[in-house]
Amino acid sequence: MYRSHNCGELRGEHIGNEVTLSGWVQRSRVMSGQIFIDLRDRYGITQLSFIDNEHPDVFANAKKLGREFVVQITGKVVERQSKNPNLPTGDVEVVAEALTILNSSKTPPFTIEQDTDGGEELRMTYRYLDLRRAPLQQALKLRHNVSMEVRNYLSEQDFLEIETPYLIKSTPEGARDFVVPSRMHPGHFYALPQSPQTFKQLLMVSGYDKYFQIVRCFRDEDLRADRQPEFTQIDCEMAFVEQEDVLNTFEGLTKALLKKIVNIDMQKPFPRITYADAMETYGIDKPDIRFDMTLTDITHLAQNKGFQVFDQAEYVGGIVVKDGASMSRKEIDKLINFVKRPQIGVKGLVWVKCNDPIKSSVDKFFTAEQLNQWKNEMNATSGDLILLIADEGYRARKALGELRLHLGNMLGLRNPMEFAPLWVVDFPLLEKDDESDRWHAMHHPFTSPKPEDIALLKSDPGSVRANAYDLVLNGNEIGGGSIRIHNRELQSTMFELLGFSKEDAEAQFGFLMQAFEYGAPPHGGIAFGLDRLVAILGGQENIRNFIAFPKNNAGRDLMIESPSTIDAEQLEELGLGLV
Ligand code: ASP
Repeated sequence: MYRSHNCGELRGEHIGNEVTLSGWVQRSRVMSGQIFIDLRDRYGITQLSFIDNEHPDVFANAKKLGREFVVQITGKVVERQSKNPNLPTGDVEVVAEALTILNSSKTPPFTIEQDTDGGEELRMTYRYLDLRRAPLQQALKLRHNVSMEVRNYLSEQDFLEIETPYLIKSTPEGARDFVVPSRMHPGHFYALPQSPQTFKQLLMVSGYDKYFQIVRCFRDEDLRADRQPEFTQIDCEMAFVEQEDVLNTFEGLTKALLKKIVNIDMQKPFPRITYADAMETYGIDKPDIRFDMTLTDITHLAQNKGFQVFDQAEYVGGIVVKDGASMSRKEIDKLINFVKRPQIGVKGLVWVKCNDPIKSSVDKFFTAEQLNQWKNEMNATSGDLILLIADEGYRARKALGELRLHLGNMLGLRNPMEFAPLWVVDFPLLEKDDESDRWHAMHHPFTSPKPEDIALLKSDPGSVRANAYDLVLNGNEIGGGSIRIHNRELQSTMFELLGFSKEDAEAQFGFLMQAFEYGAPPHGGIAFGLDRLVAILGGQENIRNFIAFPKNNAGRDLMIESPSTIDAEQLEELGLGLV
């Protein structure tokens, strides 16, 4: 028997017991006559004490132990002289009577403790060592708990978890496909799923009216910070539902997760906002509503007073920083530099300090009375700071949205352990790609237009709204879905609009359109990004901490060194030889 208890288990009540523990040596303190060792496993840390006077052989052996040696000890639980209130096992220690070294260890390249001295690259290269640290173990445990809760909740609601294949054909979700060459069919390729979208729709045709799957998806995108080329979705689909049914079902799931995982009882329905309103009021389609600071359009008040910058802009609007009038010139300059960065790219900020008298950076052009009009329009009060941006409408709002989040961070308004979910609904069906001048599906090509907007599909595609929705949590899109098209004609019109030739549409999605001809029920669904959801519930930004073996920002696995080349023979076999 390797152990009678784990390293997080012993308490005052065990004093006097004879126990056996196995684990890793986290730390040892050698003193004359006595050695203290922190023994670690995934349950915690227990202090061991080796006493020269009592067990000289064991003591001598313990002297040889280095960090991360794997050991087994047997001994007696005693009360600790100096207790450690920060450790659940901190009242006791085990006086070792026998020690077996199960394995030695090289000195690890970084310290394996709560906080480590290792840089991210090094820790990713030795991921198996980093995973020994408590924060990562807690993160993976949280992930497990979330997955279990999802499975329990959905299963109670009659959902079936059904696996769909990984070696498939392109499923367009707006990224490039990862492809896998077929050895048996030289020159032919599988694509890895960007999502199980088409398969889950086929399952609806087959009558599995409530499906879910915790599933890996693969998207070959230009990597942005904290994106993973493979990531996990909680993928769901339901038949015989309208948007309302889907929202209610998954609001229920989200509430259950908040209750079980972070112990927050959310009684009220989640707020809902249309995409258009979100853009107007927050400058972004995934608003963080943990704080206000919403955007106000004052174009009508600000123009035609002789200030060119405002007069020439499509939009003049801003946000109010509560009690911000005391900000120094230097602090405001920093905000100006923030919005002038190329990623945001507006020309500057106009500020108004709501003091008595009211003061602004455009006093030359506007009277105090005019500034007060803005103040009233924006619901600012004495002591507040108004920040304004004038530009083309979309760019100005987007910049204000970014400034709002920046200020939210600066002012500590984004408490990671406060949770503010909301639904964003009525997304546009299509968006124009300026470069190619072509329409793209904003969600994906299987999303249904709102029935009342179908008539506009040919005449004014840009104004057609979709039955599509996102679930947003603390400024992150954690889920997105739609009611689908389940009719062949409409699906082919959609492909046509997206610039597919009849032949291409048929070659890529003929199977789905054909299935629609055999009694496809109305259906819709949603998919949650599990990695992100878990990170947010854990109060963290970095999703890599919640993935056992993630890739770095360049899409590489530094531990196994992938991607890597393959040899000529293998290429040849796959029909990819350079002959
Ligand atoms: N397949 C979609 C996605 O991956 C989700 C959905 O529409 O259900 O974003």
